[in-house]
Amino acid sequence: MNAPLFDAHCHLDFDCFDADRGAVFERARAAGVCRFMVPGTTRRRWKHVLALGAREGVAVSLGLHPYFIDSHGDSDLEALAEELGRHDRLVAIGECGIDARFETTLAQQWALFEAQLQLARQHRLPVVIHCVHADDQVAKRLRQLDLPRRGLVHAFGGSPQQARRFLDLGYTLGLGGAATYDRAQRLHRAVTMIPDDGFVLETDSPDMPLSGRQGQRNEPAYLMETLATIARLRGQTRDSVAANAWSNTCRLFGLDADGRAS
Ligand SMILES: [Zn+2]
Repeated sequence: MNAPLFDAHCHLDFDCFDADRGAVFERARAAGVCRFMVPGTTRRRWKHVLALGAREGVAVSLGLHPYFIDSHGDSDLEALAEELGRHDRLVAIGECGIDARFETTLAQQWALFEAQLQLARQHRLPVVIHCVHADDQVAKRLRQLDLPRRGLVHAFGGSPQQARRFLDLGYTLGLGGAATYDRAQRLHRAVTMIPDDGFVLETDSPDMPLSGRQGQRNEPAYLMETLATIARLRGQTRDSVAANAWSNTCRLFGLDADGRAS
């Protein structure tokens, strides 16, 4: 038996999939990946995300991603609030968060993140969080805010202690390609201690290439390889890891047991 897989974070709206998006979905389904969560990143791309949300098996969210801080305009937050009022199929706010690799824009990033956290509270939606080199500060803020639906710390790459802190706050950790690298010993230790209800599986396509696929476009079909790594690290069968990740993703985003927005 092969339990179906849910790619809990993939940017299938990006331009790099325009030429062969249908084939990407087909390869994913052939590999057992039949549900997808596509988060928004910039206002310009939201319409593409929303269009994907009309496809079978695709859940979507809208947000303003810190990586693209320079492309967000003053009115984009207002526009986001409007979109949230208009579409009841959005399952989260995000992708939003802090990327501390870009030090010069940190103040702007925090202002934007904070506003989206408040929208999550207002709309009672979970948040999809991008957090790079800022785990401690983000965890501190999440503790203070005590958001009603919590959310996903996507592409988690931290230590067992950092994992524990997010889990204790009720957040779910997204495990992806980073775990497939032998050198990721600290992350491997974290993966072994996460409880069965504390993680989802994701590719972050087209980013975060898996070990052995550096320099290539990532795509959801490769989630099988991440599953194999996570199962091996946790000493569990692939089916049980896939089944736990599936039900965790559905619970996190308020989807029915079949992974559909209800
Ligand atoms: Zn992402």
